[in-house]
Amino acid sequence: MSKNNDELFKNVISHAKEYGFVFPSSEIYDGLSAVYDYGQLGSELKNNLKMYWWKSMVQMHENIVGIDSAIFMHPKVWKASGHVDGFADPMIDNKDSKKRYRADNLIEDKIARYLKDGKTEKSESLQKDLDAALASDDLPALRALIEEHQIVCPVSGTRNWTDVRQFNLMFSTQMGAMAEGADEVYLRPETAQGIFVNFLNVQKSGRMRIPFGIAQIGKAFRNEVIARQFIMRMREFEQMEMQFFVKPGTEMEWYAYWKEARLKWHLAVGTLPEKYRYHDHVKLAHYANAAVDIEFEFPFGFKEVEGIHSRTDFDLSQHEKFSGKKLQYFDTVENKNYIPYVIETSIGLDRMFLLTMCNAYEEQDLSTAEKPDSRTVLHLHPTLAPVKAAVLPLVKKDGLPEKAREIMDNLKLDFNMQYDEKDSIGKRYRRQDAIGTPFCITIDHQTLEDNTVTIRHRDSMEQERVPVKELDKIIGNLVSWKNLLK
Ligand code: ATP
Repeated sequence: MSKNNDELFKNVISHAKEYGFVFPSSEIYDGLSAVYDYGQLGSELKNNLKMYWWKSMVQMHENIVGIDSAIFMHPKVWKASGHVDGFADPMIDNKDSKKRYRADNLIEDKIARYLKDGKTEKSESLQKDLDAALASDDLPALRALIEEHQIVCPVSGTRNWTDVRQFNLMFSTQMGAMAEGADEVYLRPETAQGIFVNFLNVQKSGRMRIPFGIAQIGKAFRNEVIARQFIMRMREFEQMEMQFFVKPGTEMEWYAYWKEARLKWHLAVGTLPEKYRYHDHVKLAHYANAAVDIEFEFPFGFKEVEGIHSRTDFDLSQHEKFSGKKLQYFDTVENKNYIPYVIETSIGLDRMFLLTMCNAYEEQDLSTAEKPDSRTVLHLHPTLAPVKAAVLPLVKKDGLPEKAREIMDNLKLDFNMQYDEKDSIGKRYRRQDAIGTPFCITIDHQTLEDNTVTIRHRDSMEQERVPVKELDKIIGNLVSWKNLLK
């Protein structure tokens, strides 16, 4: 990360804390590694991101429905899905610093360093070796690459490494009152399996016809070997996943459809297209026949925010095998039974939140020849902004607060609003800019005479005078979901 980007990222993190977006979990006890809490504005923004996803996936598609399955599931689910035996990262410990790393991350960092130093050939050949070792789950080969490229521990600076071992990422706990005989259950590491096991329940009760999708938003838990970059890699996080069930043989058409549709969803909020890119998977998971990541350029580089995977009939077939229950669909057009193929779209809500904050954050220099000036502004899309408008009486007297309250009481029925009468109007504008409020409504003496107010627009800082009775409609249009969904 360059110094500027490093600083920018640090500023985003401290801004998120200072204004009540994200706090470290249990902070008074010095926090819990890779666990975070969303504050008063963060939870509003997070809810809006969820709503944006839910509306666009469920409400805008007549053939997609949403569910909310439990976090705990029968332990056999995770045997069937392959998570008990295969959901692991290759880890390595440095014996001097006692720090644990993901072996593949250490090698990726080395590849990035080679690239930065202009050693393109070396970086490409190491990338090829890494891909080959990962594709064959060859742990000694990973260890050999670390040795050969003289990769040192970033903390101790030594090469005193252990062997590379697999580390399962699932958290487990006991279900049942008695320690003895209690069943070991897992905290789900993904929400997808809750959809697969309910495939027939939803299909039958909803009379769904293929192609159709089931969507879900919910918590997932992974005991990540190393957690870093704030809410980028957490041990407790939220996913928004949709499984789309299709006729075998049509999966590549649907894969192409969702690949394009999901990128469109990201771009609709106004993010510059060059901040995004697709990354096709070289190493496919055992269940997939195609997979792509949608990556965003964070201050620390391009990283995955969402995955689109063609999962074949792997999951439903596995659940058939392990449960002994038929999970087939009767296709009335073809007049036959089959296990549908699945296209999955899977996005991390917290990563989307981080992306949104990084993309919106700007430190603006507003200095003129006469005086220095600056502001920090979050350019959030108005529909996603935690607070839609602030109501600000120009002064705290002459009946202006009473009039402002009357306006506020009406608007808060439809919109999340803030009322603020403390400090100068300029300071109040700056506070709203910093939390991304798109509109400030100012009540002044003229309001009492002609029932008009000014609306100040966050990004342009321009003001316009409008009748109070039009406010509902004006704000409603500016923050409407239509602006994102159509
Ligand atoms: P990564 O390679 O970054 O570990 P992944 O390929 O394991 O991610 P998936 O299993 O495809 O991720 O999960 C889908 C999405 O869930 C990811 O695109 C990401 O946005 C999110 N996600 C996965 N792990 C985490 C985590 N530890 N913290 C926050 N979000 C996560």
